[in-house]
Amino acid sequence: MAGEPQADCLFCKIVAGEIPATIVRETDTTLAFRDINPQAPTHVLVIPRVHYPDAASLAAGDPGAAADVLREAGKVASQEQVNESGYRIIFNSGPGAGQTVFHAHAHVLGGQDLRRLVA
Ligand code: 5GP
Ligand code: ZN
Repeated sequence: MAGEPQADCLFCKIVAGEIPATIVRETDTTLAFRDINPQAPTHVLVIPRVHYPDAASLAAGDPGAAADVLREAGKVASQEQVNESGYRIIFNSGPGAGQTVFHAHAHVLGGQDLRRLVA
């Protein structure tokens, strides 16, 4: 069923506490944790606790959780003190865009000049 945990999903396992992560923020509906392979000094992933394969299906199936992810992305940027220098929120969607984990997630990148960075 849409939104239900998926047994083979890495990020559902992080939500369940079965795989450790360096968590920087959490809410009732979201989790934010450091990317294991950072592409910038700040590289945090913000995920909904519910499982949807990508950002657009999350927005369609659970618009409240999608809004929560975006709000938390902004709070991560403030907490990491990259909001004034500038940061980027990225939702890779589909393998051709570089998506490798099919549980919706926002990349929050900052802490360096991002104008040439492709994450
Ligand atoms: P995607 O390529 O799907 O947009 O982003 C997936 C991200 O998850 C990648 O940037 C990758 O480094 C990160 N990642 C993959 N496995 C793990 C993990 O076990 N822990 C954490 N914290 N990040 C992970
Ligand atoms: Zn999942």
